[in-house]
Amino acid sequence: MPELPEVEVVRRGLAEHILGAEFEHTEVLHPRAVRGQDGGAAAVVAGLSGARVGGVCRRGKYLWLDLAGRGNLLVHLGMSGQMLLGEPGQVVSPHVRIRSRLMTAREEPLELTFVDQRTFGRWELTAADPVPHIALDPMDPAFDPVETARSVRRRRSEIKRVLLDQTVVSGIGNIYADEALWAAGVHPRKRASAMRQQDVLRVLDAARQVMARALEAGGTSFDELYVNVNGASGYFSRSLNAYGRTGEPCHRCGTPLQRLVIGGRSSHFCPRCQRKR
Ligand SMILES: [Zn+2]
Repeated sequence: MPELPEVEVVRRGLAEHILGAEFEHTEVLHPRAVRGQDGGAAAVVAGLSGARVGGVCRRGKYLWLDLAGRGNLLVHLGMSGQMLLGEPGQVVSPHVRIRSRLMTAREEPLELTFVDQRTFGRWELTAADPVPHIALDPMDPAFDPVETARSVRRRRSEIKRVLLDQTVVSGIGNIYADEALWAAGVHPRKRASAMRQQDVLRVLDAARQVMARALEAGGTSFDELYVNVNGASGYFSRSLNAYGRTGEPCHRCGTPLQRLVIGGRSSHFCPRCQRKR
């Protein structure tokens, strides 16, 4: 799954090119790419026809186009979904699932192609807020760290699980949760309700910083299928301190990092810097 910085890279790329553009014609080439849509492919085609892109939005890892009074187009990137922009006919791939012709505000024709090799991604037209249950993410200007830390501490489960709960705080995936806990020196199994407010604030701030650094570097990616909006690879150097470093020395104290499984997900941590008590 793409992480928040990668989705933000896609969002920025789309915003730069299709803000104010108008959808002309859409073709759905694979029904799975619109599964979950009331009315299926026909509803997507009709709903997009003539719609104008009023905004390109993101909350957590969710991405959507605000269709200026005509609802929203929620884009689930899934594991391998790519939003590629080019001149009409430019994108050629056996994995094209949806193709839309747009006219930009400068009256230039543009083609938006949804390419998805594994077809886990999909498009969905929604009326109001497309993700009402998703909390704000730490990169959002409206994010309230104090209030969020309080709601983290109302949870009795392990901090690692709470960080991954998108209804408490969104956008922190497995990689950034491990990195944030390492940076803040907090054991992933520490019970959220047993943490001090200042420690939770430190974890949230670490998450924001780690994601901001990844974004500066162009989005980290562990999926070679991930390509950003213009088709260029979104890789960035893996300057990670915890994630995936089992057995390697901690960058702070040299102790070999350990791995444990929490909620079915791998957690990587330093047994010396991140003590449970
Ligand atoms: Zn350490």
